[in-house]
Amino acid sequence: MRLIWNVAGLAILLGLLQIANGESSSSRAEGMSTAVRPIATLADQPLSERVVAYQIDARFDPAKHTLDATEVLTYRNPTGRPQDTFPFHLYLNAFQPQSTFVREGHREHRDLQWEEKYRASADIKSLEVVGIGDLTAKIKFISPDDGNPDDRTVFQVTLPRPVGPNESVQFKIVFHDQFGQIVARTGYRNHFMMGAQWFPKVGVWWQGAWNCHQFHSDTEFFADFGAYDVKLTLPQNEVVGASGIEISEIKNNDGTKTLTFRGEDIHDFAWTAQPDFQVVEGEFNGSMGGVKIRVLMQPGHMNQADRHLRIVRETMKRFDDWYGPYPYKQITVVDPGDFRAGGMEYPTLFTGDVTWWAPAGLHLFEQVVVHEFGHQYWYGMVATNEFENAWLDEGINSYTECKILDDIFGREKSGLDLWGLTEGDSAQQRNSYLGTPDFDPMTRFAYQFATGASYGDVTYGKSATVLYTLEKVIGEATLRRALRTYFMRYRFMHPTQEDFLKTVEEASGQNLRWYFDQAVYGTNILDYEISSARSDRLDWYLEKPPEEKKGSTSYRTEILVHRKGDFIFPVEVQIKFDNGESVIEHWDGKDRWVRYAYEKKAKVVSAELDPEHSLLVDRNFFNNSYADQEDTRARWKIVNYWTWCTQLLMQCLSWLA
Ligand SMILES: [Zn+2]
Repeated sequence: MRLIWNVAGLAILLGLLQIANGESSSSRAEGMSTAVRPIATLADQPLSERVVAYQIDARFDPAKHTLDATEVLTYRNPTGRPQDTFPFHLYLNAFQPQSTFVREGHREHRDLQWEEKYRASADIKSLEVVGIGDLTAKIKFISPDDGNPDDRTVFQVTLPRPVGPNESVQFKIVFHDQFGQIVARTGYRNHFMMGAQWFPKVGVWWQGAWNCHQFHSDTEFFADFGAYDVKLTLPQNEVVGASGIEISEIKNNDGTKTLTFRGEDIHDFAWTAQPDFQVVEGEFNGSMGGVKIRVLMQPGHMNQADRHLRIVRETMKRFDDWYGPYPYKQITVVDPGDFRAGGMEYPTLFTGDVTWWAPAGLHLFEQVVVHEFGHQYWYGMVATNEFENAWLDEGINSYTECKILDDIFGREKSGLDLWGLTEGDSAQQRNSYLGTPDFDPMTRFAYQFATGASYGDVTYGKSATVLYTLEKVIGEATLRRALRTYFMRYRFMHPTQEDFLKTVEEASGQNLRWYFDQAVYGTNILDYEISSARSDRLDWYLEKPPEEKKGSTSYRTEILVHRKGDFIFPVEVQIKFDNGESVIEHWDGKDRWVRYAYEKKAKVVSAELDPEHSLLVDRNFFNNSYADQEDTRARWKIVNYWTWCTQLLMQCLSWLA
């Protein structure tokens, strides 16, 4: 998902959008999509080791916002050992006032009030293991992360006899969902329905143990790859989008229809329904053939349909060229009916942004679409553990979002290009990092960050900034190659953060532990400053020194460079003299300070750290330069103040958007 809003912005936005959404329902048009439904083909060969196969037969009642379903889950035991206990997620139970999700959310946003319309639940009516019998009575809710006895987002069941290695076990689960009004990602708003995290999902056996965390306010998801066969029965007037591809539609006599979807080599299944979705289709021709782009637009937004298609194609092209192919046959893009379901990724489906009406130069809309498509790679295919290593998905994805937007709009304009004001997406990521730079390392488990702000600032902003700065160490092209190797090697594999870091070291041929220990595993702050810069006449001691004359008076120039933070990084210092001479010094940064001294017939004009401005993790750019007061070339300092003004404007616009 993409974090843009801070708390104040969110509160203002909430109010504004509630007004806007209330109006939009009255303009709802009747009828189904006019688009033709092509039947896409499925992959010939499995792309993943298919651990799970879900067959779900579900009936959705949009009037009551309920869903009744039977799920048959076939699980092939890949763990190499007998297993008798299986944990499952029941995410929908997070939307209850005593859940861990709401408790943590309340800690972060005390002004947000609980309302009963937000309540949602998933109830297991029965759980049977084929060949063993009914085990409904054996269901036990557990809270492995915080022991909250009122949290019902994870249950486990123990079988009377274990399932052997590579044997399959079949669970038949009958369940009932009650959706609530959308708080986050899932539920309804007016006639818009987002069906996410809606079915019992088995945990992942990972690194020698079950990994099945509770649903927290700042965690996302982790699941095994497999095949999904989902039948969804709902009123005939509903227009539906879903993960995978639709393979059949049957009209029933009771006014409903049954849609059948098949999704292969994916690890979750989400769907959306709304009677007046307008469907727009396009195509992307990538290195693995054609991909259908199916966009479900809100009826009043059709003038934005091409903008959606355009940015999706631009993004897919760059991902294909730079990191690897998109192997699925379809991508579904949802223009959400509520911003709280927006900016969220699911396999082969994602929700876009509601800020399409903001000024075009404010690239919020493009940032969200590029970001959510990017998740198809880092979350959808590489599929790292978002509970424990959230940065591997959100951080790498924020970095690739910046790179793609830089390529489309230009590095200095990729975030904002409005009324003569410009700002890069990378500057925005850095700005977010500076909000809470040192409470938590990037490697903290997502639900253990000090605050939600720290989670967002570090997982997105810092991680992207750390990767940008890594370009300085190994080169932009090498980092791109490392990301491609990482993607191609580990897609469908659930890699760890060490898998990623070692791939970067391998691609660069360098031992990068000095950097990773500080930037990734540590909370070190990088801040270098030009502490002082001065030129004194060599003949200062004479009682009557000759008149000062440019080009003939000799000076001793001393530059004192100080490492203020505990992050050690080699830096360059550029010193310019008034005779046009320029000197570049390289400092390893290991000591706390270094002094450079010169004797010349010239005075210092400026001294600047990191003259290429590539050290984005530097916390403070303001102290990176010294310029003689009369020197009109003190541009960098002015640029810094300008950036500050731009960011203030950006923040204000974000609140309004
Ligand atoms: Zn994201």
